[in-house]
This record gives sequence, structure tokens and C-alpha cells, in this order.
Amino acid sequence: MKYNIIGSSSKGNCIIVEDILMLDVGCSYVKIEKYLKQVKLIFISHSHKDHLNTTTIKQIAYKYPNIKIICGSEVVAEKLVKDSYVPMKNIYILKPSKWYDLGALKVKLEPLIHDTPNFSLKAEIKGKKMIYIVDTANVDNIEAKDYDLFLIEANYDEQTLKEHIYRCENPDELYYLYRVPATHLSYQDANSFLIENMGRNSQYEYIHKSNYNFKEEK
Ligand SMILES: [Zn+2]
Ligand SMILES: [Zn+2]
Repeated sequence: MKYNIIGSSSKGNCIIVEDILMLDVGCSYVKIEKYLKQVKLIFISHSHKDHLNTTTIKQIAYKYPNIKIICGSEVVAEKLVKDSYVPMKNIYILKPSKWYDLGALKVKLEPLIHDTPNFSLKAEIKGKKMIYIVDTANVDNIEAKDYDLFLIEANYDEQTLKEHIYRCENPDELYYLYRVPATHLSYQDANSFLIENMGRNSQYEYIHKSNYNFKEEK
């Protein structure tokens, strides 16, 4: 499947799949402007700033009033209305674990483990299936056998994080480091999920990497 990563880290997330589906809007408007003509649907996983930039959404809602936005939580919907002035008629709060047929694509949300309501997205576009998983402690209740595309968080390397915790002397930083496994997916867990679920022709991409807790050279 065709996908375009505009941003994928705690600095801002936005990925476009098959030109029509935008996954999270955590970037500035100028970065995504040229893609918006073709985008039909935006999915917002959760309300954190790196996934929901209310200023950018406000500009999108103003200039592209035909783009619909889906989410799984009231928290996100409320922000879209209050901070981005998106009209209610363009927001769909979907129930989890249920396929919705939206015409150009089918979608299904499933709950993730984070510190605010967060959802993964499965989408079927032109007969191909993709899954988007970001900001979650684990993927224990998710299955995506033989999907065509896996966009999966590989936030930190377990060993690198352990070393940082061991060496850390700053209490604030230590608090942050201890929270990482409760809110993000490790490279190791992402790999177990991929091994479980990937088929012969599946594509995958590691997303939402933390440069600090992820040293590839070893
Ligand atoms: Zn994030
Ligand atoms: Zn988050």
C-alpha cells in the first residue's frame, strides 16, 4: 500500500495512506497542505498534542469543509469542536471493535493502553488492509493476521531504556523514564506482534520512535 510519513515522533505525527486517509494531525498546516485536496478522511487516535494539533485542524476545517474526522473518544471530539471549530456534522465518534463502511474505505477502531483514551485503526482501502498502532503499553488484545500494511509503534528499545533508568540521577527524568513502558510500545513488543501477524507480502514500518531510548547500533 502507498503511504507517506509526514511526521512520526513525539514532535508530531501525521501519515497519509493511499492519498485519502490521514492518520493523526500533529504537524503544522504548511507541512500537510499540499496533500489535503485528496484527503477524504482524518483519523485522530487521541488528544495528545503530537497527534492532535488543534490549530492545524482549525485551518483544515476552514479550508476543506468536506473532510470528515473520525475518532473513538469524546475527549478528542470535544477538542475538535471547542478548540478547532470543526462542525459536529463532520465528526464521527465510532464505537470500538466494529467495522464501519464509509464508502471509499472501511474502518475499525480498537482500544489501546495509554494515559488518555486512545485507539488503533484498521482500514480497508481498495481491498487492501492496514493497521495503525501508536502510543500503547501493549498490543495484547489486537490481531491483524495477513494485513497488507503495518504502521506500528516501536518507541523504545527495552535494553536502552533500562540503561537510561540505571544511569539517571534526575528525579523528573526518572519519573518520565519509568512511565515509558506504561504508555508506549517497545521495539521488542512491536516485533513479536509483526511475527505473529505478518504474511508473505505484508509491509511494515516502525513509527513513533524515541531517538533517546532507541539506539539501533549494538
Ligand atoms: Zn505520541
Ligand atoms: Zn500520547
